[in-house]
Amino acid sequence: MNVVVFTGGVGGAKLCDGLACSVGEEHLTIIVNTADDFELYGLHISPDLDTVMYTLAGIANPVTGWGIEGDTFNNFDMLARYGVSPWFRLGDRDLATHLLRTQLLREGMQLSAITRLLAQRLGVKARILPMTDDRVRTVVDTDEGLFHFQEYFVRLRWQPEVRSLIYEGAEEAHPNDEALRAIETADTIIIAPSNLYLSIDPILALPGMKDALLNAAAPIIAVTPIISGEAVKGPAAKLMRELGVESSAVAVAQHYADFINGFVLDQRDAALEPHIASMGIGVLVTDTLMTDRKARARLACEVVNFADRLRPEKLGGCRMDLLPPQA
Ligand code: GDP
Repeated sequence: MNVVVFTGGVGGAKLCDGLACSVGEEHLTIIVNTADDFELYGLHISPDLDTVMYTLAGIANPVTGWGIEGDTFNNFDMLARYGVSPWFRLGDRDLATHLLRTQLLREGMQLSAITRLLAQRLGVKARILPMTDDRVRTVVDTDEGLFHFQEYFVRLRWQPEVRSLIYEGAEEAHPNDEALRAIETADTIIIAPSNLYLSIDPILALPGMKDALLNAAAPIIAVTPIISGEAVKGPAAKLMRELGVESSAVAVAQHYADFINGFVLDQRDAALEPHIASMGIGVLVTDTLMTDRKARARLACEVVNFADRLRPEKLGGCRMDLLPPQA
């Protein structure tokens, strides 16, 4: 069973963790957005890659959704003594990841190879692939001007009104070859419940990525990031409204309609099922809120089984009663 997941940070990382529990990490290829990457104090920071990697390594901070559980912020306190207060806080242990990644990049190693090395050292068996080794950066065009993604998201706490999003460098970037091959040979492809504009669209903007999905033999399933018209966390719903789209699960399904076969709708939105089905998309209605590890594994299992139902040749899905006890 080869499962490919398209993801950003927190929402997608939770589903990846559930998939690791239900189908096994070694069957997972995770294609991660890197358009949120940025440089701070000369360090290369890849927030989504790290969230996915820390989550699968079991060391993610469950409260903040970013960084490492139990991390300290001595470097931040020391910077404060120098009179500097960076708007982006990096934990002391987290800093080690950025130091090593930056040094290896300077030595000429590709981001994908560095990610493989870091993940291996943390004992992660899933294949975590940055969407590209090239530089792509999300620029947010707002009523207060143009901002790089992290400035908009962290410093301005996503308050300015967004007019459009620009994925700088995407058109010239080369998508990760391993990712393209994985899509071709996948049994199931999942678009995680990640921010459609800030996490999934930058991946789809890479040349050849959308075609790879259109040509994929595997069923493609998207899991809604919108429940009852709102995002579980972050600016997805606010962005939809600002971009002139209704903030609903239907609009998410519409957004992906040209390449998905199935859509996982939250049970709180069950009334929207006929609307999505009328687009020719299969619908699974279930509880999509991943409140704990058990909920992550259950949702992952249901998504895999849903994909199996959409496939002409059944592979046999995931047995909910056989989920490991830690789930
Ligand atoms: P980011 O890069 O850290 O912002 O993370 P993502 O783009 O992966 O995830 C953010 C999106 O995930 C938001 O739109 C949330 O609504 C969605 N999300 C987070 N947790 C859950 C959950 O438990 N269930 C569902 N259905 N969506 C979720």
